[in-house]
Amino acid sequence: MNIEEILKRSKKIVITTHQSPDGDAIGSSLALFGYLVKKGFDVSVVVPDSFPKFLKWMEGTDNIHVYDYEQNVVEGLIFEADLIFSLDYNDLTRVGGVGVLIEKSTAYKAMIDHHLNPAAFADWMCSDTSSCSTAQLVYNFIEDFNDLDLIDNQIAEGIYCGIMTDSGSFRFPSVQAKTHLIAADLINRGLNHARVHELVHDVNTLPKLHLLGFALNEKLRVLPKLPVAVIAISSEELSRFSYKKGDTEGLVNYALSLEGVEMAAFIKEDDNKVKMSFRSKGDISVNEFSSQYFSGGGHKNAAGGVSFTSFEETVKLFESKIVEFLK
Ligand code: 5GP
Ligand code: MN
Repeated sequence: MNIEEILKRSKKIVITTHQSPDGDAIGSSLALFGYLVKKGFDVSVVVPDSFPKFLKWMEGTDNIHVYDYEQNVVEGLIFEADLIFSLDYNDLTRVGGVGVLIEKSTAYKAMIDHHLNPAAFADWMCSDTSSCSTAQLVYNFIEDFNDLDLIDNQIAEGIYCGIMTDSGSFRFPSVQAKTHLIAADLINRGLNHARVHELVHDVNTLPKLHLLGFALNEKLRVLPKLPVAVIAISSEELSRFSYKKGDTEGLVNYALSLEGVEMAAFIKEDDNKVKMSFRSKGDISVNEFSSQYFSGGGHKNAAGGVSFTSFEETVKLFESKIVEFLK
């Protein structure tokens, strides 16, 4: 069924996005939220777990329901929904407990996403892996309905924040001429783009910068004879720097910025798992690497994965698997 038809049959809409929501997850969700509210729908936004402080300035974040803190509310919203949007993820395993609720729900399911290898759970799917961000696809979505004039400051900031954060501030190869045209259009509509950069990037805390210093000084390593750099940080080290969610965002890019390095990994010990972020340049597909060895996924040059063995073992496992993979 096409999305026009699905929307015609829907009143209550729930927008969902992935675990550990990033700027694109929150930005695209709030942009779509603002647009659908303007179109007269009853809309809610649901995220599996909390998101970093540098995204909480966005208008509309007060309307976001965090499943970890409001399980009953979220269950009610999903139970009553006629239509559930999946934004910035393409597999129900990426939304934890929310995925189980979505699977049980009889609502229509619509996906807007830019990751590789989408799972087949949606009734309608906009899956464009050439897009730098889901936020860009939300702009296209509004454009397809001939509704660009409905874009207000809240919607514009959401779209811009999603594009900016997922494109490394407009520098990754995924940026298209269209990406810049969208940014130009948003600015023409009154968006204060510098405000978005400042509110996302210039809000570091002292412990966060000290953690960055520690990571670069004591934790950054280049693997012998390989174009691979690694930063691995244990939970004890994180707590030494009063770690808060989001404090290690972007750390992996410093490893990738080393001359001669083509693949970078950031390995972080979490409560009951070890989380990994992978980045690459050129032809090395970190998406393939993480799906092959660490039940992960993402994009060719930016992906993530998880391991449930110990932190020390995971670091060793990464080092041996990457040798095998790059052979
Ligand atoms: P990040 O390293 O910034 O957390 O994630 C990089 C990209 O990989 C994002 O597009 C994110 O959605 C994806 N990603 C991160 N962790 C996982 C994971 O555990 N599984 C899958 N399938 N994708 C992930
Ligand atoms: Mn994204």
